[in-house]
Amino acid sequence: MQESVTYEEYPLKIPLISISLTIAVYGIGTYILAGFGILWALLYMIYCILIEISVLRGSCVNCWYYGKRCGLGRGKLCAKLFKKGDPQKFSAREISWIQIIPDFLVIIFPIVGSIILLILAFNLTLLMVLIILIILYFVGNAFVRGMLTCKYCKQRELGCPAAKMFNKEKE
Ligand code: SF4
Repeated sequence: MQESVTYEEYPLKIPLISISLTIAVYGIGTYILAGFGILWALLYMIYCILIEISVLRGSCVNCWYYGKRCGLGRGKLCAKLFKKGDPQKFSAREISWIQIIPDFLVIIFPIVGSIILLILAFNLTLLMVLIILIILYFVGNAFVRGMLTCKYCKQRELGCPAAKMFNKEKE
């Protein structure tokens, strides 16, 4: 049987890919919601920033990669912004689908916004942008999590509530 490999610190290209994907999703989401006016685009950007802060404060402070280069590129940033938490808390946390709804709103808002804009005035460019966004979010994230990050994550081996939840779904 093949021994599982985990990274102490991820090769730089992995967080760079993850961060680029996140920025692309937020950027496209902002572009779509700008169709309703600059205020909606700004509100969406603020929401994305708040979601990132909540991940850093709620999870990354307790993560094994706190202060290190993790696969999603938040470990070092977290150490610059927040005090180290309690690593025991990371694996002890139980998460449910309801708790991750706020995270999904970063994709739900632009999807709903696009549908409304398309109903009001069909626009092929907007439809293409929406399709790209959906592919980036779902396929891109599945690739990044499945092939580049979670697969090599030390915290997953020590205990990760998200991995536990998704694996339970697969059983
Ligand atoms: S592995 Fe996840 S929880 Fe840990 S620091 Fe990176 S993004 Fe945060």
